[in-house]
Amino acid sequence: MTDRPYPSRFLRFLGTAGARFTIIRQLRASGGLWLGLGDSSFVIDPGPGSLVRICEAQPPLDPMALSAILLTHRHIDHSTDLNVLTEAMTGGGFHHQGHVILPEDAVASPCCYLLPYLKEKIGALHVWKEGEAVTLPGKVTVRPVRLTHHRVDCFGFVAEVPEMAPFGLISDARFEERWLDFYRDCPLLVVNMTLPHRCEGIDHLCPADVARIIATLEPRQILLTHLGRGVLMSGAEEVAASLTTGGTRVIAARDGMVIDLETYETWETQARFEPALSPDRV
Ligand SMILES: [Zn+2]
Ligand SMILES: [Zn+2]
Repeated sequence: MTDRPYPSRFLRFLGTAGARFTIIRQLRASGGLWLGLGDSSFVIDPGPGSLVRICEAQPPLDPMALSAILLTHRHIDHSTDLNVLTEAMTGGGFHHQGHVILPEDAVASPCCYLLPYLKEKIGALHVWKEGEAVTLPGKVTVRPVRLTHHRVDCFGFVAEVPEMAPFGLISDARFEERWLDFYRDCPLLVVNMTLPHRCEGIDHLCPADVARIIATLEPRQILLTHLGRGVLMSGAEEVAASLTTGGTRVIAARDGMVIDLETYETWETQARFEPALSPDRV
């Protein structure tokens, strides 16, 4: 544990829970990722508790300092805090500012996941389209790739920041060779690995899929997150260790973990959050 300051470019895991039961029982915290790039800040997939995890973070994070919110897909474990964080980003609705990126079916489905009054308040609403990069404050360019995930529009992305190696996020997905090459230039990957084993018909990644990613791309480091109950019961750290190779270090992210996006050093922070139940009691 440390209260060392955030580096200039970092990711903080607000929560590392994935899929319904880990989140409903808060076996791990949920809430997505905070991305800090100098003066610009972003939240990716603000699921349940995202605002609370931001407000309790040490060192502090300021939800009113957000520049953009990115939603990979509309599932409830990724989207519940979208509106309250948009309210924060727009200074309680008083300032017309900030970007939101959503998939098409989160904007145009029977209900828009972003409430109409907030849609009016933000600076820009973007819809993910494969092959169309979005440039955000902080000079970050986000390039999306379509993933297959239970019949919703779902996107992973590569974030390109000047004078820094790009990093990639592989969100909830069925493994497909199709998108592997998209992440070819990323020495750092954040991977939503929710399942402990392949489960036919379930569009989530498992350790065998991560092993294929490593065999093909050999990234320098992989951070596993969005961990399901089965992964936690198997021991996420043990799973990560078993996937580590000579060329690729695999780390199971923990709630409140920070990674320096330039050195790839990771460390844990003071967190008030205590998981409600241990996996073996479920
Ligand atoms: Zn999910
Ligand atoms: Zn999902």
